Amino acid sequence: MYVIVTLSKLPQMSKVLREVTDELRRMFDSARSIVVLTGAGVSAESGVPTFRGGGGSEMWSWRGRPITELSSAELLATDPALVWEWFDYRRGLLKELTPNPGHFALAEWERRFESFALVTQNIDDLHRVAGSMNLFELHGNIWRARCLRCASTFEARETPLESAPACFVCGGASRPDVVLFGEMLPEGVFERAEEAASRADIFFVIGTSAVVYPAASLPILAKQTGAKIIEVNPEQTDISFLADVTVLGLAGEILPQFISGRAH
Ligand SMILES: [Zn+2]
Repeated sequence: MYVIVTLSKLPQMSKVLREVTDELRRMFDSARSIVVLTGAGVSAESGVPTFRGGGGSEMWSWRGRPITELSSAELLATDPALVWEWFDYRRGLLKELTPNPGHFALAEWERRFESFALVTQNIDDLHRVAGSMNLFELHGNIWRARCLRCASTFEARETPLESAPACFVCGGASRPDVVLFGEMLPEGVFERAEEAASRADIFFVIGTSAVVYPAASLPILAKQTGAKIIEVNPEQTDISFLADVTVLGLAGEILPQFISGRAH
């Protein structure tokens, strides 16, 4: 479905900006369909720990175990209580955090466009708290649980947890409704994100280098189906070569500029 192999042969055509220019704002205003992919950088601006060091070399650990082991399908199968403890610890880190101006700008964008989809790799719920509605959470949501027996998903916001949340439908044991290492993405979510990406006039990549598949295939698909790719990141990334425009800066500073009407 994707012609990934040809991309490395494309010439470097990224245009690098440090703020949103009138020209860029005009392109934005004239779009009918916008799709945005966000990643850890947007959450980090609200204080969410990213749990990954630069280049992935310096992994976080908790109780002496690396997160690749803690957030794994293998540990869920052998010690689900420990998986819940680990996620309870992470929920404790998140519960006081609030959306930043980048989250709020994206919620405002959604109200301005006929067609708007927000695809996120983040599990912290901050986009929803900020008011985003058409949201595809590729990696799930840390405030939801999923029943191991009947597969119902339900909100489970208590933290600290006294015990693993029981399914409100059948009373069965549950797990965090988050994609773990060694698991597939939730059924249907990615396909709907692909469908939106293929119809986008502009595809934004924000706070992520989008190198992790399958999310990385979304901007490629959007590009192949005619979208302009706009990247917003503090520095250039592996996706910059694909971007028509890279705006260097924090999401919380750059995204509001698209709707501020501020002349430059
Ligand atoms: Zn159930």
